[in-house]
Amino acid sequence: MYKHILVATDLSSVTKTTVSKAFDLAKECKATLSIIHVIEPIPAYGYPGITPIESPHIDEISKELSAFCQEFKIASEHQHVEVGPPKAKVLEVAKTIGADLIVVGSHGRHGIFSFLGSTANAILHSAPCDVLTIRAEDAQ
Ligand code: AMP
Repeated sequence: MYKHILVATDLSSVTKTTVSKAFDLAKECKATLSIIHVIEPIPAYGYPGITPIESPHIDEISKELSAFCQEFKIASEHQHVEVGPPKAKVLEVAKTIGADLIVVGSHGRHGIFSFLGSTANAILHSAPCDVLTIRAEDAQ
């Protein structure tokens, strides 16, 4: 049985099923459920020396995640908002909190037309623990 499950969401409607299934599984296993959303920095193309622009909306996104989490009763200390590349940040937080299962959607904003979304694929290849992929209902 899993003890600490980390579910990754891009906060799109596509991943609501993913979080809902992670919630059910955590309940079944009596596991702690943590959630992560990663804000991707906007690249500053074509301007050498200019660093990527980090989203100024961290507080806004944290509130959005918090509202999203109410339905799934995920306490604020288990809600993570990070800035950076989603794959690296999901794996970093999974390691920090000692997650023994990462739950991702098969698709999200990036990969709706491919077999497996790019983030899901990257996490699957490098995770230090089990990864459960939830099929997105409207995947092609
Ligand atoms: P994608 O690679 O965009 O098709 O997304 C596949 C899955 O990776 C999504 O369903 C989420 O579970 C996860 N994911 C994608 N982007 C993010 C993000 N920015 N933050 C957290 N999880 C994400």
